[in-house]
Order: sequence, then structure tokens, then C-alpha cells
Amino acid sequence: MRLWQQAMISLALNHSIKNFIQNYRPASVFARRFVGAINEFEILQKAEDLRSKGTLVSFFHLGEYVKDKDKILQTIESLIKVIKGVKETGLDNHISIDPTQAGLLQGFSFCQNNLIKLASCIQSASGSSIRTSARNYLMIDMEDASVTQATLDLYATLIDRKLPAALTLQASLFRTENDLEQIFRHPGAVRLVKGAFAEKSSICHTDKEKIDHQYLSLGKKMLFQSTSGKRFYPIFGTHDHHIIYKLIAHARKNNISSDRYEFEMLFGVRPNLQADLIRQKQIIRVYLPYGKDFWPYAVRRIGENPKNIRFLARSLFPE
Ligand SMILES: Cc1cc2nc3c(=O)[nH]c(=O)nc-3n(C[C@H](O)[C@H](O)[C@H](O)COP(=O)(O)OP(=O)(O)OC[C@H]3O[C@@H](n4cnc5c(N)ncnc54)[C@H](O)[C@@H]3O)c2cc1C
Repeated sequence: MRLWQQAMISLALNHSIKNFIQNYRPASVFARRFVGAINEFEILQKAEDLRSKGTLVSFFHLGEYVKDKDKILQTIESLIKVIKGVKETGLDNHISIDPTQAGLLQGFSFCQNNLIKLASCIQSASGSSIRTSARNYLMIDMEDASVTQATLDLYATLIDRKLPAALTLQASLFRTENDLEQIFRHPGAVRLVKGAFAEKSSICHTDKEKIDHQYLSLGKKMLFQSTSGKRFYPIFGTHDHHIIYKLIAHARKNNISSDRYEFEMLFGVRPNLQADLIRQKQIIRVYLPYGKDFWPYAVRRIGENPKNIRFLARSLFPE
């Protein structure tokens, strides 16, 4: 699986294929399966549609490891439009962003300033939001291990300023248990994922069983922390129904009500599982990407599940 995943990561980074697909197949089955919309207006409509069916969203503007400063500023402006648009609706102001999309490759302060701008915007929009129970966060995604510490530092800066920030942690990394303990010292929110990057075995578990075990153990700690009175909100970013049902059983056994935590899945992935959890009154959010730069994001979805290749095949050969 790791070899397959690595092959898909290389494909995602191939510029010629990316340009071909994005220019000639922008509305393909492949894109529509995993990407919510192209622009801010349409993505807000999509989010309202999902909300009416019981699903919350986290908005994500497409683009990874961005080197061009203008593109970074366009991403920030686009997200600000979404945040302002959300204010008028009953949606959560929940935005996901990769540190390298916000300018980490250009420098820590540049990235930090962009994140502060977005989180401040969420904070002021939330102050006048029509829904006070909304979970409003700037969720910082976690990229490869070369930026883990910088990403933790960015999160800490936002929390120090009492801005509405949340952080993604990867259960596969050895360091995560300790990082989580540090985060527990302050009010905050963590999205726990297994980890999408093929890192060296010296810093992470590579065996699926061990990663799943670690995920469950950290997930239980997060649930416990949500009851500690320290205002901690657990978000479980996974499609693994074994883990999901074990966490729900653990929460029930410990009288942790289902509004104290949530599950988040990728838009287009395991829709039946999402519907089943909604029926069970669990909070379900989807990570909802929008924008034109869909190729690298969608190819990663094939890396996670080879069966998704059928959507790519139908896009390339529609007849
Ligand atoms: C909301 C969210 C945010 C994320 N953010 C990050 C991040 O910031 N950093 C990071 O490193 N990783 C991130 N990830 C990816 C994550 O690390 C995993 O690589 C990915 O979610 C697959 O792991 P899993 O927990 O779903 O479990 P798995 O054991 O991989 O999968 C469980 C089940 O779900 C199915 N499944 C999983 N993915 C797909 C798919 N794409 N299509 C169809 N079926 C699928 C599998 O086939 C399997 O049946 C995020 C994932 C989610 C859901």
C-alpha cells in the first residue's frame, strides 16, 4: 500500500498531467466526486445543501505546497470571502488550510500573519453569527514531517492570541502522544488523522495495525480531555468504521454526549457510513474542497483507496 501511495503522490506532483486534466476535464466525474465546487459562491451553496441533509463542512481551498506568493494571497482572499459569506448563513465558520498554502515555504512570519488574518476574520464573523452553537475554527492541516514542528508553533501562536484555532495531528507519528499532552494544557481543538505521508520508519509507525491501535488510544485520551473542563474539542478525521464505532462505544460507556466531539470525513468518501452516523445522531463534518487546482488532491484519494481509480478512468475515457 505504501508503494502504491508513493506512486500516487508522484502522479499528483506531475505538472503536465495536472495541466492536461485541469484544463480539459475540469468538470469530470473524477473532479466532481471529490471536489465540492470551483468558486466561493458555488461552495457556499453546496455547504448549505449538505447542511440541510445533516452534514457540517470544513471549507478547503485547493492547492498544495504553493510557491507563488500571489497564489497564496489569492487563497487567503478567497477564504475571507467564504468566511464573510458563511456569516449570513446557519453554517459553521470552519476553514481548513495547509501551512504551505498560507506561505510557510516563504517564511514562518509570512505564514503566521496570514493565519492570524484568517483566524481573526473567523473570530469577528462568529461574534455576529446567527448560530451561537456553531463550531468556528481555523483548522490547520498537518503536512509532511519537515514542517511538523513549525505547524505546532503556528497553532500555539494562534492559541496564545486566543484566536479560534484547531490543529491536525497524525496518529502514525511517534511524537504525537507528547504533542497532544502539550496541547491539552490549553483550551483547544484537535483533529486526529492517521497520516497521509509516507514518512521514514524512524519517526513513525508504518504497520497499519500499530497505527490503528495508536489512533484509538489517542482518540480515547481526547474524549477524556473533552470532559476535563478545559474546553477541549476532539475531531476524529477518519473513514475507519471499526475505529469510529469503538470511539462511540467508549464515549457512551463514559457518559460523554455526542455533541462533545465530532467525526470528519472527506467529501465523496464513504457516503453511506456518513449517513449511518447521522442517523445515530453523531456530528458529521465533511472536508469540502473547492477551487480549480483539483488534480493533486483527487489523486491522493486514489492513493488512499485504489478502487477510486475507476472515477479517474471514467473521466479520461468518458465513452
Ligand atoms: C477530514 C480529514 C482531514 C485530513 N487531514 C489530513 C492532514 O491534515 N494530514 C494528513 O497527513 N492526513 C490527513 N487526512 C488523511 C488521513 O491521514 C488518512 O490518510 C486518510 O483519512 C485515510 O485513513 P482512514 O483513517 O480513513 O483509514 P483507512 O484505514 O485508510 O481507511 C478506512 C476505510 O475507509 C476507506 N477509505 C479511506 N480513504 C478512502 C478514500 N479516499 N476513498 C474511498 N475509501 C477510503 C478505506 O478503504 C477503508 O475501508 C485527513 C483525513 C480526513 C478524513
